[in-house]
Amino acid sequence: MKKLRAGILGATGTVGQRMIQLLEAHPWFEVSCVAASDNSAGKVYSQATRWMLDTEIPQAVSKMTVQACAPGLDCDLVLSGLPSNIAEETELQLAKAGMPVISNASSHRMKPDVPLLIPEINPDHLDAIESQKKRIGGRGFIVTNPNCSTIGLVFPMAALHRKFGLEALHVVTMQALSGAGYPGVPSLDIIDNVLPAIDMGGEDRKIETEPLKILGRWAGNQFQDVAIRMSALTHRVNVRDGHLEAVSVKLAKKASREEVEAAMRDFTSPIDELNLPSAPRPVMILESHAQRPQPRRDRDRGNGMAVVIGPVAPCGVLDYKFRLLSHNTIRGAAGAAILNAELLYKKGMIG
Ligand code: NAP
Repeated sequence: MKKLRAGILGATGTVGQRMIQLLEAHPWFEVSCVAASDNSAGKVYSQATRWMLDTEIPQAVSKMTVQACAPGLDCDLVLSGLPSNIAEETELQLAKAGMPVISNASSHRMKPDVPLLIPEINPDHLDAIESQKKRIGGRGFIVTNPNCSTIGLVFPMAALHRKFGLEALHVVTMQALSGAGYPGVPSLDIIDNVLPAIDMGGEDRKIETEPLKILGRWAGNQFQDVAIRMSALTHRVNVRDGHLEAVSVKLAKKASREEVEAAMRDFTSPIDELNLPSAPRPVMILESHAQRPQPRRDRDRGNGMAVVIGPVAPCGVLDYKFRLLSHNTIRGAAGAAILNAELLYKKGMIG
């Protein structure tokens, strides 16, 4: 089959590098162009980027000339790893010029007609694209993936909400350094330290609001949030990759510990039959050992696309508590965006 040509925005950054790595052997997509800031534009990719991954830069990409992030890129879709302040206008311009934009940035996530997509959970939210296209005026559109901690959290939320109803959730995150991009957090701030309130509390608010949109519904003209009380406290910790989260939940219906674990273990998704290349099986892995999950040991499970959940225990304040882990630059960013592109392709919405 002829592969679709993907342009990578923010190609020199942490998420951009991951997207390039994950697309190297992708069956449906290939990287056709790379774009970044004015500092990088005009340079050969291998010289413009400070490559941080353990595999080599794919040969074809390493020789590409970095371009500006503007309409006119030679591709069928763009995958964006731009900083939010840049993504806001740049992604809109590309969509207006007719390009499907699949974004990791937060700038468009909460817009009333932009899908905040997790293919296994809310593929029906793609229905919003027709309305969005009318607003933007053309064939292009924007689809986003959630914040890197939101995405891991929403899987058990979806499973529990579906089965028992979820009334309230409290989460404390321990988030890896790669989540702050490169060069990210200064070493003297994070060695021998934990930094609370990532982004001055902005990260807390993303995790408190994004799940409500994802688990909500498209009402024909805008998304309607689900009603779950949420509280989040975020922290940056001295780990390279993998966000750990400590979660407590209050259920609407009484359930035993075994039933809560089974709801997560037996979770099925509307896209199971589509066999998307990046979709992990199973998407939630339940660990029975009290000292799992751990970032170093569990972040690469399911090729970095699975969410690993520790044993469920009774909570003295809400009903149950557990820990979960997801790979922030794969499931929480690059892999999520590629999975979104795969769903769009399978549904005939790109290409
Ligand atoms: P990063 O490492 O700082 O990379 C930023 C990229 O954007 C670089 O390629 C940079 O190019 C480019 N860029 C910066 N300013 C630009 C401009 N004015 N015009 C065009 N390109 C510009 O950041 P990151 O961690 O990859 O994050 C990228 C996006 O993904 C952010 O919106 C972030 O919130 C989101 N995200 C990140 C993660 C994660 O785990 N890191 C997870 C989920 C979502 P130069 O090299 O030329 O400066």
